Amino acid sequence: MNYNQDTEKASEIAAEALERIHSEGLAPTPDIFELWYVYYGNYNPEVVRAIDILSSSQQKITDERCHELHQRFLSESTQNDRVKKAGDKISETIKSVGGAVVSVRNATSNYSSALSEASVKLSDDTLDIDGAREAISDVMTNTQNMVEQNERLEYELNRSTEVMIELQRDLEMVKKEALTDGLTSLANRKAFDAEILRIRKESVEHDCAFSLIMMDIDHFKSFNDNYGHQVGDQVLRLVAKTLFDGVKGRDVVARYGGEEFAIILPETDLQGAVKVGEHLRKAVASKEIINRSSGEKLGRITLSGGAAEFGNDEKVDDLILRADKALYTAKHNGRNQVSTSKSSATKKA
Ligand code: GH3
Ligand code: MG
Ligand code: MG
Repeated sequence: MNYNQDTEKASEIAAEALERIHSEGLAPTPDIFELWYVYYGNYNPEVVRAIDILSSSQQKITDERCHELHQRFLSESTQNDRVKKAGDKISETIKSVGGAVVSVRNATSNYSSALSEASVKLSDDTLDIDGAREAISDVMTNTQNMVEQNERLEYELNRSTEVMIELQRDLEMVKKEALTDGLTSLANRKAFDAEILRIRKESVEHDCAFSLIMMDIDHFKSFNDNYGHQVGDQVLRLVAKTLFDGVKGRDVVARYGGEEFAIILPETDLQGAVKVGEHLRKAVASKEIINRSSGEKLGRITLSGGAAEFGNDEKVDDLILRADKALYTAKHNGRNQVSTSKSSATKKA
């Protein structure tokens, strides 16, 4: 978590956090302090939501609950643990395979000496039948040993292949989870940051346009206040699905922040982006929100959008800023609409 604040603001947030820790009778440990600092600094909407739900349901906030929330939302250790475990498993597997290879090497060397010895013995004219038996029996024992060592190596190699396949699957899952928003299953902010850079690079390389739309739910705070955060979450999922279903496969829909979404449209100029934005806006506005648990009709929600087309060599941050400004214009002009940001120099679609 990146806590960029000036000293004054940081002190204010820290004071609020400590006061709350004190009034709830919590232990002022680093984890618990971080949780409340994040809450009062509004750094993570999921933490804010979870704590608001706890407070509004009058449940006692205990040290244990705080640790649970910290672990769930703020600790990267769950993922780190899984990566560390994978690393340990890889070392263990390499060790076992290495051990089996050394055993085979030793067995091969012994076998070779045993064969030479037997060859010398068997070519001795004075060798009697018992001596010959003994020499052959030695060869047989060494052959058996050799077979066993090879079998062990084969077993270790098969096992390591299975372990590696399992690890690959697990690591892919960790990677996917790290880029997915837990509530909506859309790409998260981290994935968005990487995707927009990738698409910008492609656009520059192929000299083609791309556009960005920032969309934000209108008056979502009052929706939450009226119906509660859980219904709010249900609406966020519905909006996310509507946006995801409303674009083409190569377009990227991400949850940019609390109730704000970002849509990256490769090979799309401003005119095309407005069409997509309008289509998405209408798709969301046309849905009637129904409370899943009570069946009660909760009306409709709307989105405002700001669209901007990538300008020649423009920095990603500047493009985002322009889309954000256009979004602000849409809000200012009455919401439930898509505004655009004009850029001086853009590429052809
Ligand atoms: P505007 O039309 O100007 O965007 O008004 P607004 O009320 O949507 O905007 P504001 O920024 O004042 O409030 C955003 C609200 O979104 C605050 C919070 O209650 C809600 N929100 C943000 N993230 C979540 C979330 O994960 N779940 C739920 N249920 N609500 C969230
Ligand atoms: Mg809003
Ligand atoms: Mg907002």
